Amino acid sequence: MTDTTHKQITIAGMGKSGVSVAEYLSSADVSYACCDDNNASYPDCLSVVDDQGYVIKSPGIPSGSLPISVSSRAINDVELFFRMCKRPVIMVTGTNGKSTVVAMLEHMFRACGVDAIACGNNGVPVLHAYTERHDLYILELSSYQLENITSFHGVSSVVLNVGVDHVDRYLNMDEYAAVKQKVYTSSEVSVFPVNERGDVEYREGISGYVAESSAGSVTYSLVSNEIFRNGNFYCKTSGIGLQGRHNHINVCASLALMDTFGFESHGLVGSLNLFHGLPHRMELVCKDERGYAWINDSKSTNVHSLLAALSSQTEPVCLIMGGRGKGEDYSGALKQYSQVIGKLITYGEDGGLIAGQASLIADCVVVGTVTEAVAEAIGYKGDVLFSPACASFDQYSDFVARGNDFKQQVKSVVSC
Ligand code: ADP
Repeated sequence: MTDTTHKQITIAGMGKSGVSVAEYLSSADVSYACCDDNNASYPDCLSVVDDQGYVIKSPGIPSGSLPISVSSRAINDVELFFRMCKRPVIMVTGTNGKSTVVAMLEHMFRACGVDAIACGNNGVPVLHAYTERHDLYILELSSYQLENITSFHGVSSVVLNVGVDHVDRYLNMDEYAAVKQKVYTSSEVSVFPVNERGDVEYREGISGYVAESSAGSVTYSLVSNEIFRNGNFYCKTSGIGLQGRHNHINVCASLALMDTFGFESHGLVGSLNLFHGLPHRMELVCKDERGYAWINDSKSTNVHSLLAALSSQTEPVCLIMGGRGKGEDYSGALKQYSQVIGKLITYGEDGGLIAGQASLIADCVVVGTVTEAVAEAIGYKGDVLFSPACASFDQYSDFVARGNDFKQQVKSVVSC
C-alpha cells in the first residue's frame, strides 16, 4: 500500500481473511484498528471507521450494509495482494467448480515443477500465500471478493460458469455475471466457457473452454468421453481421477489455463489421473455391504451444483436435499432428473418447501435433520446422494461441518 503514514487503516470483519490482514500488517509494522459487527470481542464498525482512512473489508460484509462513503473506498485482502504482488497470477471465478479447478491446477503445476499455490476463496488467505513467496498464485475469487478489487493483473483468467446463486446480494443475474467478468480486466489471456458450436456460453451447455490472447486461441473441449485440443484428440476421460461430466468440463478449463503457460504435453494426463478431487464434492463416503455408494456432496449449495450431481447418475438414487434455500426454484431440476431420483428425502429449514416442488417424485419424505435423513435412507436399494442444493447455515456453521456430520452419521449406521 502507498501513503499509509497519516491515514488510519481499519480492518472491517475479523473472520479468516480479516485476521490474515491483521497478521500481515503487524508483520510489516503498520498500525491498524479492527471492528466486527458480529463478534463481541471487537467494536462495531461504524464506531471505528473514520472519515478518510483506509478500510479493508471482509468479503462477507455486503457493500450495501456500509454507508456509501465507507463502501466506496473499501478494499479487501485480495486488492492489497494485487497492489504488492508482481509475480504471475491466474484468476478463477464462477458459480461452481472454483475450488476443484484451483486445486487441480495447483496439483498439475507442481507436478510440472512449478512452485504454485492455490489461495483466496478456497480458504488459504492470499496474504499468507504472498508472505510465503511462491512463483505462481492461483487465485480462487468469489463474486463477493471481486466487488472490492480494482488492481487486477492476471496472466490468465477464467469465469468457469454462471448459474443462479447469491440472488439476495445482486439485483439480477446480469449484475452477478458482470461482477464475475471483472476477472478479465487487464488479463493477458482470457479463458471463456464455450458450447458445442464454439460460442461463448456461461450458463447451459458448456462443453469446453477457449483461451484467447494476442497470440491466438486454443480450445479444449469434451466430446462424449474424450477431450480434444483444437479439435485433435488429447486424452480419454476414463483414466481421470475425477468422475462426472462437470468435472471433465473442469479438466478442460484447467488444461486451457495450463496451456497459456506453455504446458500442453500429454504428460499432464498422468498427473490429472492422480488428482482425486476435494472432500465434500461428490465424495465417496463408502460402499455399504450391499455395494451401494453413499456420496457426500455437501458443497452443493445451489441448484446448479445439484444439476451437475444428478447428471452424473445412471441409476435411480436416494437424494437427500435441504438446508437454507436461496430462493431458487427446485421444481425444474427435480422434474428434469425425476428418472434418476428413486426417493427424495428433504430436511432442514426449506425441507417442506422443496418437497412441495417435487410433484413427480412419488417417494418423498420430509424429516428434520441430517441424522433423520440418513436413518430414512438406510433401507433404500440403490446409491444415496447427499447434495443439499441449499446453504448449511440453518443447522451448521458451514458446508464442511454439514458434510462431516453426514459422513459421521453414515459411518455410525452403515457397515462400510
Ligand atoms: P466452488 O468453489 O465454486 O463452490 P467446488 O469445486 O467447491 O466449487 O464445487 C461446489 C459444488 O459444485 C460441488 O457440489 C461440485 O460437485 C459442483 N461442481 C463442481 N464443478 C462444477 C461445474 N463445472 N458445474 C456445476 N457444478 C460443479
